[in-house]
Amino acid sequence: MRTTLDVDKNRWPELWQQTCQILENHFPRETIRTWIYSLELADTEDLGQNRMKVHMAAVNEFSANWVRDKYRREIEFALTQVTGSECELVVATRDGGQGAPVYAPPVEYVANQGSGGAVNTGTVLHTGNRQIGSNDNPVDVRYTFENFVVGASNQFAHASAVAVSEHPARQYNPLFIFSPPGLGKTHLLHAIGNHLISKTPGTRVAYLSAEKFVNEMIDSIQHNRMSQFRAKYRDSYDVILIDDIQFIAGKSASEEEFFHTFNTLHGSKRQIVMTSDRPPKEIEGLEARLRTRFEWGLVSDIRPPEIETRIAILKSKAERDDIYVPDDVATFLASYIKSNVRELEGVLVKLQAHASMTGAEITLDMAKTTLKTSIPEESSHFTVDSIQNTVSKYFRITPKDLKSPSRVKKFSMPRQIAMFLVRKYTGLPVETIGEYFGGRDHSTVVYALQKVEEELETTPNIRESVEAIQDLL
Ligand code: ADP
Ligand code: MG
Repeated sequence: MRTTLDVDKNRWPELWQQTCQILENHFPRETIRTWIYSLELADTEDLGQNRMKVHMAAVNEFSANWVRDKYRREIEFALTQVTGSECELVVATRDGGQGAPVYAPPVEYVANQGSGGAVNTGTVLHTGNRQIGSNDNPVDVRYTFENFVVGASNQFAHASAVAVSEHPARQYNPLFIFSPPGLGKTHLLHAIGNHLISKTPGTRVAYLSAEKFVNEMIDSIQHNRMSQFRAKYRDSYDVILIDDIQFIAGKSASEEEFFHTFNTLHGSKRQIVMTSDRPPKEIEGLEARLRTRFEWGLVSDIRPPEIETRIAILKSKAERDDIYVPDDVATFLASYIKSNVRELEGVLVKLQAHASMTGAEITLDMAKTTLKTSIPEESSHFTVDSIQNTVSKYFRITPKDLKSPSRVKKFSMPRQIAMFLVRKYTGLPVETIGEYFGGRDHSTVVYALQKVEEELETTPNIRESVEAIQDLL
């Protein structure tokens, strides 16, 4: 039966926005703006058995084909997560065959506003007269075991992640994975989730950062929704994947809440996987009873990859994105960028952008030039460290305060300014910047960048501070 979307009209902008937010983890924002957000909902079709066909209209033939070829799978997956129904996507042109769109999303596309946003527990979507709960802690479909390159440095963490996804809550509960930033912890968490879901469809898996847990909890306290919050994390998931757990350290209310959540989950044989930037013992300010629990199961680490693994990762990414990277270029890049896989990916993206703009092939020379402009030299003042030091000195706080979970204004304002300057001077991706500020979510960084940019216009003393710090750099 084909029904127009009268009932859902009002819900659609919000759903579509959530869908775009999920997609934001997969594609650059420009891609989303250009190709995805311009899609209009035309119709939905209930296929029964909790399946749904979503008809969308693109602005022209070219963009319909492009979306179909490049993004269909990810859009379907994101829609499925947001609506709770298995979605199949059909893309046509506005006037081509599928009828004119009955509804265009009027909302401006806004990036995830980050911390402190409204709690999104138990979103319910009305599709016809069915109600479907949605999971607002979805797993990212792009990170799988298949595209994780295994080498000596990550072999153990990889094997333990595979073991847990084959037999959840059996031997290793919790699984605790730690490493410095950019070495694949988040990737492994999602890979566990994806494996579980594809092996046993219907497994309720939550992926979330510890920061999200904390923010959601604070919000629930403010809005008197603690019982819903508790029910959500203690009862509604089979597996919880929680990223950057170091973030809860020193926040006693969050630690307390997480302690009970952990006990309930563990007691009812549900799998918990956590990551952190350091081993449980070294997480400063973490309550002892939590530390012991973190060590109950299996603790495994990831070390910086060896050059062979770095080359293999680079090649696998290049192949996936259909980029031809000659061997000498791969070796050159991998020998330069040693300690962070995300940065390795970053240069690859830059190289490709450069190549496609100039129509030239990727060569060693091009790689050298690109690298020079994208990697701050060792001696440069514009490193994350030096910016954090300068900003904290200026505000008479410590670099540690910038990375701490505390949200008091005394720290949060300098932190936002520091993020802004790091972005400005190093051009690092927002994900990496978040990692350098105590494992914060990329949406928090996006929020900080927007906020400071705005304040530069509107708030004279922020502008003065930023200018003074830039002079010091
Ligand atoms: P972390 O959570 O440890 O900071 P991420 O999991 O976010 O790091 O990894 C950073 C980027 O590097 C991701 O895009 C991830 O896919 C990639 N990456 C890291 N390790 C590997 C690996 N062994 N194989 C393939 N990609 C990897
Ligand atoms: Mg991570």
